[in-house]
Amino acid sequence: MSAPRLEIDIEKIRHNAKTLVERLAARGISVTGVTKATLGSPEIARALVRSGVAGLADSRIENLEGMRLAGVLATMTLIRAPMLSQAKRVVAYADVSFNTEIATIRELSDQAGAIGKRHRIVLMVELGDLREGILPADLQGVVEKTLGLPNVVLEGLGANLACRSGVTPSAENMALLSSLANGTEETFGIQLNRVSGGTSANLQWALGPHSTGRIDDLRLGEAILLGREPLARQPIEGLHTDAFTLYAEVIEAKSKPSLPWGNLAQSAFGTPVLPLDRGTILQGIFAIGRQDTDPAGLTPSAGIELLGSSSDHLIADLGATRLPVGAEAGFQLNYSALLRTMNSTFVTKTLLYGVGVA
Ligand SMILES: *Cc1c(COP(=O)(O)O)cnc(C)c1O
Repeated sequence: MSAPRLEIDIEKIRHNAKTLVERLAARGISVTGVTKATLGSPEIARALVRSGVAGLADSRIENLEGMRLAGVLATMTLIRAPMLSQAKRVVAYADVSFNTEIATIRELSDQAGAIGKRHRIVLMVELGDLREGILPADLQGVVEKTLGLPNVVLEGLGANLACRSGVTPSAENMALLSSLANGTEETFGIQLNRVSGGTSANLQWALGPHSTGRIDDLRLGEAILLGREPLARQPIEGLHTDAFTLYAEVIEAKSKPSLPWGNLAQSAFGTPVLPLDRGTILQGIFAIGRQDTDPAGLTPSAGIELLGSSSDHLIADLGATRLPVGAEAGFQLNYSALLRTMNSTFVTKTLLYGVGVA
């Protein structure tokens, strides 16, 4: 098989999604499956749909469009605020989009009208992480303007935490989102279909002791794909953490000193951290690099230690593993490594289907 190669176990992803769908259903919360880390892979999207997610979401309209054209049947939500310049494409391929700017919502309404559609809007509220969101004090004004537009429907409210600043979802900020939903309904005499509380980072809160209030949806990517919660990156009980494995091939394996020699300046990627002197090591080079993955987000198997990387080389202490030239080693990936690996055209993606899945 060709290397580098990302092996993707569809059955493990389906199991993770189904487990989370069931756990959250017991709390009155549906799961929207987030596909952006897999570039909207239709096969993975179908596995999510089979597992019982309420819909699919992606931050790129290109990925939603790809899934639609591949025949994936699901409610499609664009979870990054649309570019004004892409409004036409957004109403064509997304049923719902997350928004914070009335100028964009106006354009979505115009474009939806032009093709005889009604586009659904979730208004994102800023709860402190300082990424996207309307400040709570400004929310009712944006709701009023949105309700005044002819070809958009206010689907609900949403919030996003723990992405830019690491602000954690809490009983307090989730209760604020609930009360904003209640207040919006009372003020305008409307019903909101969806209050989307957040991401995989909300799982501890959602499965914890306090009331989930009005929150009835979470958008899950990392927890489904990697089986970990993103606040402390701990494995989630009962989920697979190894649905993805990256394989790379050894192109050089030689005994070398662990310390460089000569005068030192910057390397290709800034000032390198000098390695510890551990005498002579069996140094291996894998044919993969920063173009293909985030080396800092790779975990090798036992006995191999990663030492450095450049655009196209990953350097390791092979220890006693004795991997010869031409051998492959497998690596587990964190979210950052997964994102970049999925985006590398040099990495073959191989889908594996476990027992019992067609
Ligand atoms: C990426 C993203 C998600 C999914 O986050 P995970 O941590 O992967 O679960 C949810 N909502 C928004 C707005 C996102 O951008």
